[in-house]
Order: sequence, then structure tokens, then C-alpha cells
Amino acid sequence: MDLSIIGSGYVGLVSGACFAEVGHTVVCVDNDLKKVESLQAGHIPIYEPGLEELVQRNVASGRMRFTNSIADGVDHSEVVFIAVPTPPQADGSVDLSYIERVAREISGVLKPGQYRVVVDKSTVPVKTGDKVSETIKRYGSRGAEFDVVSNPEFLREGCAVADLMHPDRIVIGSKSDRALAIMKKLYEPFMAPILVTDINSAELIKHAANSFLALKISYINAVSAICDASGADIEKVADGIGMDRRIGRNFLNAGLGYGGSCFPKDLAAFIAISEDLGVPFTLLKEVQRINSSQRERFLKGLRDTLWILRDKKIAVWGLTFKPDTDDIRCSVAIDFIQDLLKEGAHVTAYDPKGMENVAKFGLIPGAKMAASPLEAAQGAEALIIATEWHEFGMVDLAHLKEAMHSPLVFDGRNLLDPATMRRMGFHYRSIGRPEGQKS
Ligand code: NAD
Repeated sequence: MDLSIIGSGYVGLVSGACFAEVGHTVVCVDNDLKKVESLQAGHIPIYEPGLEELVQRNVASGRMRFTNSIADGVDHSEVVFIAVPTPPQADGSVDLSYIERVAREISGVLKPGQYRVVVDKSTVPVKTGDKVSETIKRYGSRGAEFDVVSNPEFLREGCAVADLMHPDRIVIGSKSDRALAIMKKLYEPFMAPILVTDINSAELIKHAANSFLALKISYINAVSAICDASGADIEKVADGIGMDRRIGRNFLNAGLGYGGSCFPKDLAAFIAISEDLGVPFTLLKEVQRINSSQRERFLKGLRDTLWILRDKKIAVWGLTFKPDTDDIRCSVAIDFIQDLLKEGAHVTAYDPKGMENVAKFGLIPGAKMAASPLEAAQGAEALIIATEWHEFGMVDLAHLKEAMHSPLVFDGRNLLDPATMRRMGFHYRSIGRPEGQKS
């Protein structure tokens, strides 16, 4: 099938590559000309495992190409996906101006008698599909034939290719049988369960799912605070809870809290949506509160040990919001470094993939970047593990101890083993785990 994807970011580019991989022909559209030119020149602007090879293979086979022209994309495709940003506004509600603009642009290029399925893949508030439909009708030429479908995306950065190729489920919200049949055919090669709903339900599923996952993280983080206060071990508690099949072990890892471009914004959006509809979802505010208190609690632990942070040399491992991505949007690691810099600490950080974006966006101008984990730790009075990159668990602990001024490790992601750290002579603090106890 022929399709286009408007917006070639994390969602649009990876989805495009995966659709091409299963045999469809994909036109990726973006209004950032530099991005389009660099994609056309074979440079992939984001890091996502397996993506580069996938794009190269499908470009070479002629199933994938890039353009900055929506007209070009819409003209060559029966299905037009929208995958543009839906960022938060100051009050938490969603800025839908990108979606509205794309809807108007699509309406301007739809030709009479040329049926198109317009699919919203961006994360949007319930009832956005109706607005997109109204907008295309209002600005489009008479006789343009189209249906709007909601098809929320559930990929996780860091394993987006695998998630898209083998999704748990595909949600399709549609009120048109014609559009539904096309969507089912499009997704047939993925052999995944398809849940068909109305448009409003599909839109709501995405916000409800992300809010629930954030809630699970905050739940275990709140329990981790109780573990810290009582001497219990959060890993054992999480195992004990997670072995119950009704609950499951996933998303029960205590740490510095969730970040990234999705959870914080989607949670804030869901709160705003519920308030707007007159049914405030106050539980989610507590989820937000627990999330930020987790970082404050960790910072307090660091202060309790180092006393004054001003002029202390602190190493931070990790900048991205999670491992296996270069994405630093709303990263807790960055927030934490900003906290440290505000208190006058000297921060040296290292991240396998995030340092280029840090330099590009200039979020932590006061922090130095190192070429390796050990270089970052050189002469440090404390080391913070802020992102659980696999590479950090592989560092030679004897060398680490030698490199540091004093062997203080604050593990914000429970990456290392407390008993090993103690045996190696570190003062080691993690989250919700007794010091030195075997995990
Ligand atoms: P992104 O910022 O990585 O990419 C968006 C792209 O859209 C950019 O390349 C931008 O240049 C382009 N764009 C903006 N306006 C445009 C326009 N008028 N015409 C053409 N291109 C335009 O964003 P993302 O992370 O891919 O997220 C996109 C949507 O998907 C958001 O609603 C997000 O919430 C949702 N989502 C994201 C993830 C994720 O993990 N990143 C997962 C699921 C859903």
C-alpha cells in the first residue's frame, strides 16, 4: 500500500521504516528542511537501535523516501498519518496547533474524488478526531473524500523498532467501515491483535495507558520511600508484588522517577482533559507529586552525606531520560544536574548517546562532558547514576574507586549490586535498598 507520514521524528520515522520493511511504500514528510535534506543524504537524525540499517535498506529498495512537501506525500498515498508534536502548554493542556496546521495543510492538497484515510498517530486529547475532521471539511475543496481515524502509538524509545514490528496491540478508532478495512489491510503483515473502537475511545486509550504506567512507577517509588524508612528491600517487595499475575513485575522498578517526552506531558494532559470534562482525575496529581519528590529525596540523601554541595566535584553517569536513546527531553538526569548546578556543585557528566543533544540544546551549560564513565568520575567526591545504561554496570569497580576522590556512589536507578559495592569499599546508596544487602 502507499502511505505518507507527516512528521519524521521518533514516531514518524520509525513507523515509516517499519511500514516500508513489511512491504508498503512510504513517503516521510517533514517541514524541517534541514532534517529532510539530512535524511535524503542518508543521515539518521535520532539514535534508535536498528533504525539506521532499517532506513538504509528500505530507501535502497525504493520503498521509503523523504520530502518536505505535504502535497507530494498526500498525492502519493491512500493513507496519510499525522505524527507531529503535541507539546504541553503552561497549564498542562495540549498544544494542538501542530495538528490543526497539518489538518489545514492536508485539506489544501486533497483533490476531489481522491479518497484518503487521515490517521492521527500523535497523542491527542479525546475528541480531537472530530476537530481534525471538521477542519479538513472547513478548509478543503468541495468533493474531497476522506475519513479520519485514530491510531495511537505505543512504541517505547530505545526499543521502538521491535515495538513497532511486534506490537502488543494495534488500536484503530474509526467510524467508517471503508477506512477500517484499509487500516486492517495496512496492519495485516504485523500479525498483531487489533482492537477496533470508536475514535474517542482510541484517543482516550493512549492517555489512560500512559497515565497508568506512570502511576505504576510512582506507586513503587512511594513504596521505596517506605522501604528506605523501614529497612525493607524494594527489589524483594517489587518481586513479591509483581509475581502476582494480576499486577505483573513490569514498571515496578524504583528509581529517580519517570521523565521523557511522553509520560510527564501525557499525565498533565490527562489531568487537564479530565478537568475540562468536569471530572477531575485528582489521583494523577499525586502521581506527579510522588515523581518529583523522588528526585528531591535523592538530592537530600546526597546533601546528608556531602553536607554542602557548593564547590563539590560530582560525576553524573547518564543524561538521556532512559537507556538506548539519545532523547534528553524532560530527562530526570538533566533536571538533577540542574539541581546540582544551582547549589554550586561542579558537575562532570558522561552519556553514551546523549551528549550531542545536550550540547545542541544547551540545557546544562555549567556542566562539563567527559569522554568515558571513568573520565567523568576522575577526582569526583560523589558519583550519581542517573540513567541505567548497560555500559555503566560493566565499569571496572576497582578502577572507579581509584579514579574517585572519595568512593561515594549514589545509584538513582538501582543498577549496581549493594553487596558488591560494599565489598569493594564504596559508600553506596541506592533507592529503597538497604546498604550492602544482597539484592
Ligand atoms: P518529534 O518531535 O520527534 O517529531 C515530530 C516531527 O514533526 C519533527 O520532525 C517536526 O519537524 C515535524 N513537524 C512538526 N510540524 C510539522 C508540520 N506542520 N509538517 C510536517 N512535519 C512537522 O515527536 P515524536 O516524539 O515523534 O512525537 C510525535 C507524536 O507522537 C506526539 O504526539 C507524541 O506524544 C506521540 N508519541 C511519541 C512517542 C515517543 O516515544 N516519542 C511514543 C508514542 C507517541
